[in-house]
Amino acid sequence: MGKKIVVAGAGHGGLIAAAKLAQAGYDVTVYERRIKSELGYDWEDAINLHIFAECGLETPDTSNIEFNGDMKYYNPNLKAPLVVPSNGKGSAMFERKKLYEILLDNAEKSGVRIIYSTEILGPVMDGLRVTGIRTSDGVVDADLVIDAAGINTPLRSRLPVCCNVDRDYGYGECFYAYRAYFNKVPGHDPDVGYEIFLMHQGERGISWVVTKDSYVDVLIGRMAPMSKEKLRKTLDEMRAFSPQIGETLLRGGSQEQIPVRRPLSVMVCDGYAAVGDSAYMTEPMSGSGICASMRAGLLLAETVIADEKEEYSKETLWEYNRKYMLHFGKNFAAIDILKNVLLCTEVEGVNFLFDKGIITENDMSFGTGKSDKGMAFSDLVARATRGIGNLPVLLRTAGALSKGDNVKKVYEAIPKTYNEKAVLKWKADVREATTLMQR
Ligand SMILES: Cc1cc2nc3c(=O)[nH]c(=O)nc-3n(C[C@H](O)[C@H](O)[C@H](O)COP(=O)(O)OP(=O)(O)OC[C@H]3O[C@@H](n4cnc5c(N)ncnc54)[C@H](O)[C@@H]3O)c2cc1C
Repeated sequence: MGKKIVVAGAGHGGLIAAAKLAQAGYDVTVYERRIKSELGYDWEDAINLHIFAECGLETPDTSNIEFNGDMKYYNPNLKAPLVVPSNGKGSAMFERKKLYEILLDNAEKSGVRIIYSTEILGPVMDGLRVTGIRTSDGVVDADLVIDAAGINTPLRSRLPVCCNVDRDYGYGECFYAYRAYFNKVPGHDPDVGYEIFLMHQGERGISWVVTKDSYVDVLIGRMAPMSKEKLRKTLDEMRAFSPQIGETLLRGGSQEQIPVRRPLSVMVCDGYAAVGDSAYMTEPMSGSGICASMRAGLLLAETVIADEKEEYSKETLWEYNRKYMLHFGKNFAAIDILKNVLLCTEVEGVNFLFDKGIITENDMSFGTGKSDKGMAFSDLVARATRGIGNLPVLLRTAGALSKGDNVKKVYEAIPKTYNEKAVLKWKADVREATTLMQR
């Protein structure tokens, strides 16, 4: 039997890494707090269907799958919406519960043991090395712990500071999202089915209304948790603008957290690697993290298998950290800049950016993965001319957008090998390049 690997939490990337490692002969066990039938949410998520083939999984029957079409972004005054065409690249809406069935089945068939109903309490440390996990059923030893326990993982947040893995996220880096499907009131069909409201109702956050033939998918996302009363009032106001949203809750109805920030700069230490939401691997504008997390699971498994001396140290795991930043992290960090611009601009400022055409369809489409051109930083001069009427907002936006160009270069300069001094210097450079406001 190969070395003992513990996957903490049945997150998506963790299940992919677990399966690949078990196939390669490692002794892999996943510990999960919920029971099997509770895994995944009661709704559909936007994913790229190529992910199945990339992960070596059979592509499921897609005949009943719907694709997202064009998206309409509203600014707070609702007066200058931007329509981002899907150009045939809309993401597929896939049942989360079905995705979990596929991931769990693949892991089990690969030889992974999955232990449900077990709460993980924290890491077990030997100096600065993670040597296992503490659970509600006792201590479990491991040669490597893969942290796939989501945004509030009890592992990352309890690592010693000297491990250099940042433990907490700050304001504006976590999104509280209420999602529900309601019945559709007939006779009210918007021209674009997928409507996204930025700084909705003048608050920091977004909402969406996705109108389907027989139901309406509603998301309300804010930077702080919402009370039941607050949700009820927000829904009432949404119904005034979108009368197709009925009163009968069909599915979902819970409030969950999504990381919306650049990825964790250092996601490994001796005996430990974070994957998925525990390392903030979502696209910061859209909050999509399923595919990124599964791809990261593949990169992590590859790195572990390549560690022939079976050290699982920060030095050997660094290749995973580095590849993630070069393939995905640098783009997500650039998107995070745009998100932060919107987050720290006042409502009037966001209206101004839309009204004057300073934020463009292309800026928005990059965040959704529908454009591979990147944010159009290059036409800042033209934007400056349009935005001269509100100089402070314009300067902040232009400064932020030009930071987006720079941030990718900083990510590309990630040290090739783990050297404490070089890694800390790079981490500080990332912070400097991405910080727009005091957190
Ligand atoms: C409302 C909403 C809509 C979203 N829409 C999309 C979308 O359309 N497309 C997309 O790509 N992404 C979407 N996401 C994001 C996506 O859910 C995550 O990015 C993705 O699930 C990756 O997270 P993960 O698997 O790492 O962690 P999680 O999904 O959080 O899984 C972590 C697992 O660890 C377990 N766990 C946590 N703590 C413990 C503990 N202490 N002990 C034991 N087990 C523990 C949890 O029970 C869970 O099973 C959405 C998220 C939300 C909330």
